[in-house]
Amino acid sequence: MDARLGLYLHIPFCASKCGYCDFYSRAGCEGDMPRYQQALLTHIREAAPRIAPAYIDTVYFGGGTPSYYGAKRLCELLDEIKATGRLLKSAEITVEANPDSMKRADLRQLRKAGVNRLSIGMQSANNDILKMIGRRHNFKQVELAMRDARAAGFDNISLDLIYGLPSQTRDEWADTLARAIALHPEHISGYGLKLEPGTPMYEYADSPLLPGDDEQADMYLSMVDTLERYGYAQYEISNFCIRGYESRHNLKYWRLEDYMGFGPGAHSCMGRLRYSYVRDLDGYIDGVLGSGNMMDEYEQIDDFERGAEYLMLGMRTVRGIARAEYAAIYCSSFDEIEQQLREFEKRGWALEEKGRWHFTPEGFLLSNTLIGKLLEAQTDRRAERNPWMKSQIEKEERQALPISAEEALADTYRRSVLLQSGDRDESV
Ligand code: SF4
Repeated sequence: MDARLGLYLHIPFCASKCGYCDFYSRAGCEGDMPRYQQALLTHIREAAPRIAPAYIDTVYFGGGTPSYYGAKRLCELLDEIKATGRLLKSAEITVEANPDSMKRADLRQLRKAGVNRLSIGMQSANNDILKMIGRRHNFKQVELAMRDARAAGFDNISLDLIYGLPSQTRDEWADTLARAIALHPEHISGYGLKLEPGTPMYEYADSPLLPGDDEQADMYLSMVDTLERYGYAQYEISNFCIRGYESRHNLKYWRLEDYMGFGPGAHSCMGRLRYSYVRDLDGYIDGVLGSGNMMDEYEQIDDFERGAEYLMLGMRTVRGIARAEYAAIYCSSFDEIEQQLREFEKRGWALEEKGRWHFTPEGFLLSNTLIGKLLEAQTDRRAERNPWMKSQIEKEERQALPISAEEALADTYRRSVLLQSGDRDESV
């Protein structure tokens, strides 16, 4: 079979910035759109020979806010991609859209041009919360956007949600989920709020208005449970869909498949090659249209790093990882990794099914720590064969695994028995 390739086009423009947003995008820069469009068209044309050995089976317009950039420009970019002669008829073509900038005529134009998937930023059904986090739309606009998108012929729509928002309660989150489900999207993404330095909301990171870790964890687990009950199967930590509606483009990221990015901050993964462009609109435009350097990172990765990527990205998915795949990528033993996975299994964090390992919902909650442990298992394996590395690794501090729910319960029970019996437990 011929090689397959996904294209990602970053649209770094927004009508205004949301308080929590860490994506590279700029507000109030409509005047830069024509020059940026020129840069993207030129860049795609120049990349055509590198695209040529493969067929394009996914295209993703992400942002920023592609719907704010306008259908006319998006269709022009799609025409340039079609001109490469490599775009498959069956390709998944996604446009990210915000409810406040989804015009009916634009939706019709996009659908006609071949766009067949929309990803709509709903975030919450609570208008007060939407306002607090700087979203420009209310829930009514989400309902209208869904109706208009269906009328334009879109039968593959995703809604993006965020939990752990300021003043959000478990009940309020349940209401947001229920209202999203009632709109019958084919796909739902639910991300926990994470405040990054440099974003306007970061200064409120310690605010009592924000749900605590336990509350966020409950919200996550209730999302997994609710969406499963309504027919949305989880296929990645934060992604759920009616069977057959997985985001084919995003699957490429998690499966280490090839994709080529365009635009400031966009990343590419082509075989062993990884590269990204500067997170700077002018720097990118000058790089393409002028003589500036728009490259940010550029590296050839080795077997070891590729094996690490396989563990990190594969364990984000419900499909998980398998011994044979790891061995094929890293050409090494899976034993130490499996040993660690068996430990996780005992604690209810991982499962082995039909020869593949994946996390349980409780494991997904701890995925950063758990994946860190798997990487350590991989590193230890490498270190065994490299005495210099072993001494370096031994100096590093290891992060302790959290205790499992069963262990926490047993611990609480043990402490209550000790207290009732009048015995003192120094650690209480
Ligand atoms: S619309 Fe999206 S990309 Fe733009 S500021 Fe808000 S969250 Fe960020």
